[in-house]
Amino acid sequence: MATVAALQTYLREAKSLARIAGAVQRGAHDGDGGSGAPGFTIDSKSLVDLVTSVDRECESIIFSKLKRLYPDHKFIGEESASEVELSSGFVWCVDPVDGTTNFVHAYPAYCVSIGLFYEKKPVLGVIYDPSGDRMYTAVKGGGAFCNNVPMSVDSSKTLPEAVVATNFGHSRDPEVLNRQIGSMQRLAYGNIRGVRMVGSCCVSMCRVAEGVLSGYYEEMVGGLWDVAAGSIIVEEAGGVVVNMKTGSPYTYTSGKQHILCGNATIVQAILDKL
Ligand code: MG
Ligand code: MG
Repeated sequence: MATVAALQTYLREAKSLARIAGAVQRGAHDGDGGSGAPGFTIDSKSLVDLVTSVDRECESIIFSKLKRLYPDHKFIGEESASEVELSSGFVWCVDPVDGTTNFVHAYPAYCVSIGLFYEKKPVLGVIYDPSGDRMYTAVKGGGAFCNNVPMSVDSSKTLPEAVVATNFGHSRDPEVLNRQIGSMQRLAYGNIRGVRMVGSCCVSMCRVAEGVLSGYYEEMVGGLWDVAAGSIIVEEAGGVVVNMKTGSPYTYTSGKQHILCGNATIVQAILDKL
């Protein structure tokens, strides 16, 4: 059962592991000073989809501890994807480095993301941004926090009051890119105050939760691990999370994610432009 006491225990463990993984990420850039000699190696999943030794190391650190603590739980990780379909019971869903391109370039918008589902619904989210030393947390029904301070989504009501993030993902398919550019163009014609590309789904969702961004949308995001923790953090901060293609409340399935989140009014205003 996902009791409050159990979730608080899981939260403590997840925060501790996120800090350890975050320290590995921060340490990988220590001393490189832009010299181009970072403490990691890069592999490519494709020309634009990078993975590093740090992605693999962080996932291994997190899963080896969680699997020892909770042998009857299930685990989905970006780098191991040990169980691809979300099943019932407790399922941990981890993106060891979200924003790997940012991480490789030492652009300070990357993080470790640890989510927990119970009966296919997110019940816990921990996202740690090591370059900003910001720990975002939420458990179901308990509110959302950044470094233990409660946070809430912003109250913008119209696009001219809103700053919204989106992103080009890894797709270079002209049709997908045209849709992405088209959506930004329509938002601009709608006099949106600003559009940002953060380059990390999880960091974008945390910035929505803390009210720094009014909304965030992106189609074709990598996998469930990109939205597992961020969704509950946004919802517990008073925001809504929907499928940007349908406008329906988010359902959690494997494969590419089409995410839209923010305060309810701005989510509707964005949907009207997509
Ligand atoms: Mg990743
Ligand atoms: Mg990711």
